[in-house]
Amino acid sequence: MAASTVGEAEMNSASRGAIAGAPLVLRILAECPVSKARACDMTLPHCTVNTPVFMPVGTQGTMKGVTAEQLENLGCQICLGNTYHLGMRPGPELIEKAKGLHGFMNWRRSLLTDSGGFQMVSLVELSQVTEEGVKFRSPYDNKEILLSPEQSIAIQNSLGSDIMMQLDDVVSSTVTGPRVEEAMRRSIRWLDRCIAANRNPESQNLFAIIQGGLNSELRHICLEEMTKRDVPGFAIGGLSGGEEKDDFWKMVTLSTDHLPREKPRYLMGVGYAVDLVVCVALGCDMFDCVFPTRTARFGSALVPWGSLQLKHKQYAKDFQPIDPECTCPTCRRHSRAYLHALLKCDTAALHHITIHNISYQLSLMQSVRQSIIDGCFPQFVRAFMDRMFPSREQYPRWAVDALASVGITLN
Ligand SMILES: [Zn+2]
Repeated sequence: MAASTVGEAEMNSASRGAIAGAPLVLRILAECPVSKARACDMTLPHCTVNTPVFMPVGTQGTMKGVTAEQLENLGCQICLGNTYHLGMRPGPELIEKAKGLHGFMNWRRSLLTDSGGFQMVSLVELSQVTEEGVKFRSPYDNKEILLSPEQSIAIQNSLGSDIMMQLDDVVSSTVTGPRVEEAMRRSIRWLDRCIAANRNPESQNLFAIIQGGLNSELRHICLEEMTKRDVPGFAIGGLSGGEEKDDFWKMVTLSTDHLPREKPRYLMGVGYAVDLVVCVALGCDMFDCVFPTRTARFGSALVPWGSLQLKHKQYAKDFQPIDPECTCPTCRRHSRAYLHALLKCDTAALHHITIHNISYQLSLMQSVRQSIIDGCFPQFVRAFMDRMFPSREQYPRWAVDALASVGITLN
């Protein structure tokens, strides 16, 4: 993949594209004539983002194992900052002094921050949800903290991200019963509080998060209510939490069917290659997931035919790069054998694999986008699946069904 930098021209076009009072402009470049896939240019205050896009997740202002400069050189146009961690340490005041998260990270391109709400699911034993917000004990100093919708937006306003996420009441996708409806309705009320709390509506975009678990009736209600609000974009939340894949894709496609065409759609927590390709076909534009960076830290490199576990002995004398067709800095310089040896003694190996995995995700999405623009997305999907699985019998049933539901047949 060609390295690129944000040039003067790009910055200028970004500021030209931003209409006063609307820090996000979505231009739809192409729509797949068969499926719901689309390619757009999303202009944000810091740069224009080409969609569909995968957004790598940064924690505490730095990508684990990757610098902002390296991320920029990989062509990454937008990454995620973690509000919960940044809000705790170093704290919003310090980051505001550093000219926001952009200044703190020295990142010139676009940034998306989460609300801190997702952390509730992971810290559920420590947290308690009330109408006011989420109360929890800080894992750093054991102090009781209230994360309210207003507080979440105040922190994200200090961070200065291009896209902020509303605080939502998150329940695990495997939870059923009245709690799912309660969380969905509370998320709508919290969205209104977040909209009211935003100090920077002219420079920071607030996205709503569609909830409703795996219940299509609740998803419908949430979609109907939230799309009445004039927010710049929508996320599909509450999925990718261990539910059946059949439930997952049906909730995704139901959501994109009812979201406005002219606004971006962000599917949260999705990052497996097959899931990305299928969910683009279902009409999603933006994705994030810790998977590519997390799996790199276990020595696993992503390739078009699956993954390579570089710790395995079979790579000890394999002098090919991870992927001979990959142009990332790792594949240009290092062999599987070298990385295998390095994994035994040095964390630098994890860094090299992380770079490759992020590059893989970004290149995959660039190819997806190009195929949509060229009008051959269905063919791209067939070739992608053919390469990813040794035989058609191994295609995941849910993916075949999901693609068929939007007119892309694999068999
Ligand atoms: Zn590579």
